[in-house]
Amino acid sequence: MEIFKNIERVMVVTPHPDDAELGCGGTVAKLTNDGKEVIYVVATSGDRGGRDTDMSQEYLNDKRREEQEEAASILGVKHIVHLGFSDGNLEDDHPFRSALVYNIRIYKPNILFTTDPFRKSFYIHRDHRIAGLVSLDAVFPYARDRLHYPEHIEQGLAGHNVEEIYFWGSEEPDIFIDISDTVEQKANAVMAHRSQVQDWVDRAGGREKFIEKMKEVQPDDFLKEGFRCYGMKKMMEVYEEL
Ligand SMILES: [Zn+2]
Repeated sequence: MEIFKNIERVMVVTPHPDDAELGCGGTVAKLTNDGKEVIYVVATSGDRGGRDTDMSQEYLNDKRREEQEEAASILGVKHIVHLGFSDGNLEDDHPFRSALVYNIRIYKPNILFTTDPFRKSFYIHRDHRIAGLVSLDAVFPYARDRLHYPEHIEQGLAGHNVEEIYFWGSEEPDIFIDISDTVEQKANAVMAHRSQVQDWVDRAGGREKFIEKMKEVQPDDFLKEGFRCYGMKKMMEVYEEL
């Protein structure tokens, strides 16, 4: 992919297990197929996800972790960090921000994908809004400027500059990635989240019909993924010129 030609490592911050597959699964598969290293950071365990009354929080906690690992492996993702925050309780606070900064400094991604926190025209899950906002703050200035979280210096970590953030689920995408070559991988990864989608798959009448349904729901988006890019690199250049 020309756009990500010079990228080596990519971090994906997902509020819950399954959001990343839906938001950027096709692009992640393209990146790993191109030999790029992708690191997943799963913010919450998703232990309150779903309407099925038979599933307890304990069951969902374990099940969704397994499903996330399977989905990530379908997309060629080798590193998964489970932050383990409780579903619905993500906060714009020190524990979450410092965990993101720590992992950015450990893995040193060139770019980061997460969910757009700035939607205005329709509802957004609170965990999604907070995951997007805190990721943006973690990238700049916290991860870059080494004196934020000085305990990391004692752990031998340096500041790290993530060059760009790509938001999925944006109302104003400015970059579109053609995923026609990885859409099957994406569909399989989405369907690995059985606790969340199996009843839809069954109701649709099986895998093929479910994919047809997804195409109907997102007729323009099914073979491409749209992102809004925050160009940190460009912003830093402007700062340095001042
Ligand atoms: Zn979610």
